[in-house]
Amino acid sequence: MHLVIIGNGIAGVTCAQTARRLQPEARITLVSSESPHHFSRPALMYLYMGHMRWPDVKPFEDWYWAENRLELIHDHATAIDAKQQQVHLAAGPPLTYDALLLATGATTRYYGWPGQHLQGVQGLVSKADVELMAACTPGVQQAVVVGGGLIGVELAEMLGARRVAVTLLVRDAHYWGSVLPAEEAALVAAELRRHGVQVQYGTELTEILGDDAGRVRAVRTSAGQELPAQWVGIATGVQPNLGLAAGTGIETDRGILVDERLQTSVPGIYAAGDCAQRRQPPPGEAAIEPLWYTGRMQGETVAHTICGQPTPYRRGPWFNSAKFFDLEYQTYGQVPARPEAGQASFWWQHPTRALGLRLHYRLDDHLTLLGLNTMGLRLRHEICDGWLRQGASVRHALEHLGAANFDPEFFPQHEAAIVAAFNQQQPELAPLVLRRRKGLLVHLLSL
Ligand SMILES: Cc1cc2nc3c(=O)[nH]c(=O)nc-3n(C[C@H](O)[C@H](O)[C@H](O)COP(=O)(O)OP(=O)(O)OC[C@H]3O[C@@H](n4cnc5c(N)ncnc54)[C@H](O)[C@@H]3O)c2cc1C
Repeated sequence: MHLVIIGNGIAGVTCAQTARRLQPEARITLVSSESPHHFSRPALMYLYMGHMRWPDVKPFEDWYWAENRLELIHDHATAIDAKQQQVHLAAGPPLTYDALLLATGATTRYYGWPGQHLQGVQGLVSKADVELMAACTPGVQQAVVVGGGLIGVELAEMLGARRVAVTLLVRDAHYWGSVLPAEEAALVAAELRRHGVQVQYGTELTEILGDDAGRVRAVRTSAGQELPAQWVGIATGVQPNLGLAAGTGIETDRGILVDERLQTSVPGIYAAGDCAQRRQPPPGEAAIEPLWYTGRMQGETVAHTICGQPTPYRRGPWFNSAKFFDLEYQTYGQVPARPEAGQASFWWQHPTRALGLRLHYRLDDHLTLLGLNTMGLRLRHEICDGWLRQGASVRHALEHLGAANFDPEFFPQHEAAIVAAFNQQQPELAPLVLRRRKGLLVHLLSL
C-alpha cells in the first residue's frame, strides 16, 4: 500500500506514525509546502519571543523520518485526480496513492474588512506568519489585535514582549464570551490589565486604514474610534484549507466533510485535523475541532481505518488547556458560558489570588458532574477524564479533589476552602467531607 498524506501537522504525522506501526511494509509519503519537517504549531509564539529557536520546535530529530521509512516531500500539492488516484505537485512528479489523507489544516479567517490586505495586517497560523510578523513589527509602537480568543491573547503577549502597546478588540461584553463564564473571564481580564493590554469589550473592527505606502496606520472600530496602529493582528478564528478538494467530487461545507471513520465522500480519500468537518458529530460536540490533541486523535483513528481496522472517531470528554500570560486555564467536559436549564455551577475563587475552580453539574438526583474549569490551578487529566466518563457526582469529585491535584504539595491548601465553600452554598445537602488522605494515596499510587 502507498499512503500519501498531504500536510505534516499533528494529524498527518500521527497518521503516518500509526500506519507505520500497523503496516510495517507500507510505503508512506508525507507532503507539505510549509516546512520540510513537522513542528509544534502551538510553540510558534516562542520563536517570535526568542524563547526557542527553530530546531527546538521540531519534536523529532532529522534522522527520525528515514529511520522509520517515512518519505518527506517539501512541495505543494496542487490537484487530486481521484480517478487515476494521483496527487499532482507544484514541482515534483505526481504521486500515485492507494489511500490519501488530507490533513491540510486551516488558515486565518478574514471577514472582508476594507483594508485587510494592507501591509502589516496578518494572522498567526503558519511558520510564514511568524516570520512575517518578526519582519514587520520592528519599530512598531502601537498594535491592534482583533479577536478575543486564545490566539488574540497570544499575539498580545508576543507583542508585549517586544514592548509594543497593544489594544485588543473583543466583540463580546467579556473576554471569550461565547466560551468562558463571567468569573473566569474576569480573571483573564485582570491578567490582561496586569500586563498592560488595553481591552475594548463590545467592540468590533470595521475598517483598516493605510498610508500612502500601502501600510496600515490605524483601524476604525464599531465604537466610532480611530485607533493608531502600525500593525494589526487578526485573531478571529481559522478556516479549513479546502482548496485541494475542489473539482474532485469530495464534498465540502465549512470543512472537508467526513463520516465517523473520517472518510470523505470519495472512497480511499480521508480527512483529519483542522481541515475535517464531521457530518454528524455526537450531541454537544463541534463538527470541526481545531485543536492539537483532537488532531492527534483523529490522525491515529484514521490510520486504523486506512490500515484495514475500521475505527470510528470517538474523542471522549472534551479537554483544552491554555495560558493567558501567566494564568493557566484547563477545561474538561462541558462548561457552558451560562448554565443551561437543569444544570448548575459551583464556582470557587481564592479571595486574593488569581485562582478559581468551577464544577458544572446536572441537577439530577445524583448531581452528575458535567465539566470542570480551572484558572491558575492544574488538575490531572486522567482523573478528571475518568470522573466524566464514569458519570461521577459533583460531590464525589469535590471529596476526592486530592486525587486530581497535579501538585499535591501546592494544592491541598485550597481543598478545605473549596469544600467549605460548597457546603456553605448548598446548606440543604449533607455536608461534604474532604477525603484528602485517600486522594493523596490514590495520587501516590498512580505515580
Ligand atoms: C499560534 C497557535 C497556537 C495554538 N495553540 C494551541 C494550543 O495551545 N492547544 C491546542 O490544542 N491547539 C492549539 N493550536 C491549534 C493547533 O495547533 C492546530 O489545531 C493543529 O496544529 C492542527 O493540526 P493539523 O495537522 O490539522 O494541521 P496543520 O498543523 O495546520 O498542518 C497542515 C499542513 O498542511 C500543509 N498544507 C496545506 N495544504 C497543502 C497543500 N496543498 N500541499 C502541501 N501542504 C499543504 C500546511 O501548510 C500545513 O503545514 C494553536 C494554533 C496556532 C496557530
